[in-house]
Amino acid sequence: MAIATVNPATGQTLRTFEPYSAEAVEQRLARATQTFAQYRLTDFGQRAQLMHRAAELLDADRETIARLMTTEMGKPLVAARAEAAKCAKAMRWYADRAPGLLADEHPSIADVADAGASRAWVRYRPLGVVLAVMPWNFPLWQVIRFAAPALMAGNVGLLKHASNVPQTALYLEDLFRGAGFPDGCFQTLLIGSGAVEGVLRDPRVAAATLTGSEGAGRSVASVAGDEVKKTVLELGGSDPFVVLPSADVQAAARTAVTARVQNNGQSCIAAKRFIVHTDVYDEFTTAFTAAMGALRMGDPMDEGTEVGPLATRQGRDELAELVADALALGAKAETGGAYPQGLGEGWYYPPTVLTEVSARMRIHHEEAFGPVATVYRATDLDHAVELANDTPFGLSSSVWTHDEAEQERFVRDIQAGGVFFNGMTASHPALPFGGVRRSGYGRELSAHGIREFCNTTTVWVA
Ligand code: NAP
Repeated sequence: MAIATVNPATGQTLRTFEPYSAEAVEQRLARATQTFAQYRLTDFGQRAQLMHRAAELLDADRETIARLMTTEMGKPLVAARAEAAKCAKAMRWYADRAPGLLADEHPSIADVADAGASRAWVRYRPLGVVLAVMPWNFPLWQVIRFAAPALMAGNVGLLKHASNVPQTALYLEDLFRGAGFPDGCFQTLLIGSGAVEGVLRDPRVAAATLTGSEGAGRSVASVAGDEVKKTVLELGGSDPFVVLPSADVQAAARTAVTARVQNNGQSCIAAKRFIVHTDVYDEFTTAFTAAMGALRMGDPMDEGTEVGPLATRQGRDELAELVADALALGAKAETGGAYPQGLGEGWYYPPTVLTEVSARMRIHHEEAFGPVATVYRATDLDHAVELANDTPFGLSSSVWTHDEAEQERFVRDIQAGGVFFNGMTASHPALPFGGVRRSGYGRELSAHGIREFCNTTTVWVA
C-alpha cells in the first residue's frame, strides 16, 4: 500500500509520502538506542511531567487532530474528538499511576527466608527500543495505549503506523517531541509493511507490539519468534453480543446498534454476532433492525453523521463480498446488504442486519470489519454459549442478563479476553485489554499492559 492520505469520503488522494530510505531508518534506530541509554535513567516524576505536558498539548490540538483523523480514515468527526480526549485521559492515567504499578514488589519475610535470602524483591525495568506496528482504525488511541505505558516504564518507541494514516503518525512524533521528550523517545518510521522485518531483526530492537489483522500478527510474531523477542498481539475479533430473556431487550437493542457501528463498524471489539434467545428474538431483531436502518450515513465531517465511509476501498469491497457470499447461501438482509446510491465516490457501505446465517457462510467464521451484523437464534442458554464460542476469535463479549447464575456461566465458559454484562465492550486504562485464540495474546492497559515491556528482575541478597 502506498504511504498516502486518501480521503475515504471522496476517494481523493490528498498527500503522498516517500517511504524512508534505509539510511533514514538507520538514523532513527541509532537515535532510539542512544536515547534509551539516557532516558532509562530518568525517574517517574520526570517522565510524568513530560507525559502530562503531552496530554495538555493533545487537548489543545483536539479539533485539528480530530479533523486529520477523519480526513485520513473516515470516522465521524464527533468520534474522532472523543478518541483524542480518551488518549489524553490515558496519558494522565499512566503518568499518575506508573510509580505504583511498577513499584518494587516485596515477597513476605517468611518467603524471603525460605528462598535463603536476607532480602529479596522484584524490580520492573524497561526493555529498551520497542517497535509498534499499528492499524488505522483508531489511529491515535491504538498508539497512545502502547506509548503512554511504554514511555512511563522507561522504554522508547518506534512507530510503524498503517500506510493510510501517515499524517496522524507524524503528528504523534511531533506531540511527544513538543512535550519535551528527548528526540529519540518516540519516532515515526514511514515505511511499508515489507520493511518491518528488517527493523524487527535489528539487534537494537528489543520487542514488538502489533495491533492489526491475523496475517500481519502471524508475520511479525514469526520473525520475532525467530529472533527470540517478546511480542504482544492485538488482532481481530468477532465478538458475540448475547441477549437472554431477563435482559432489558429495548436497551440491549439500542446499545447493540452503537456496539456494531462504532467507528463505522471497524472496531476489533465491536459486537459482530448477535445471539438472541428465542423468547426475545423477535422483539430484539425488530427493534435492532429498525434502528440500524434509521442511522444517518454520510460525510463524516458533518456533525450529524452516525456512519461514515469505510477507510479503504479494499475494506469496503471485502465486506461486500462477505455479505454477497452469505446472501447467496441463504442469509436474509433485514436491512442494507447492497452498495448505497447517491453518496458519490466515497467508500460507503450501509448498516446491514443479516438473519438466517449458517456455518457454511464465510461471515460465520470471518471478521466483518464494517457495519454488518449477523443475528442468530439461540434455543436455550447452552446453545447461546455454544454459538458465542463458535468462532476462531476470542477478544471480548457482551452478555445481557440479570440472572447471576447465567452471568457466572459466561464468566466460566466464554472463550474471550473479556465479558461485559448489560453493556457494550469498551476499553478503559484501568482494565486489561486483549484476547485469546486468534485474537492474539498479551494485554494492554492497566498494570498488565505496562508490565508487558518490562524486564521483571529478581533481586536476591544472601
Ligand atoms: P493490517 O492490514 O494488519 O495492518 C495493521 C498494521 O500492520 C499496519 O501498520 C500494516 O502496515 C502492518 N502490516 C500489514 N501486514 C504486515 C506484515 N506482513 N508484516 C508487518 N506489518 C504488516 O490491519 P488493518 O486493516 O490496518 O486493521 C484491521 C485489523 O486490525 C482488524 O482485523 C481488526 O480487528 C484489528 N484490530 C485489532 C485490535 C485489537 O486491539 N485487538 C484493535 C484494532 C484493530 P500497512 O498499512 O503498511 O500495510
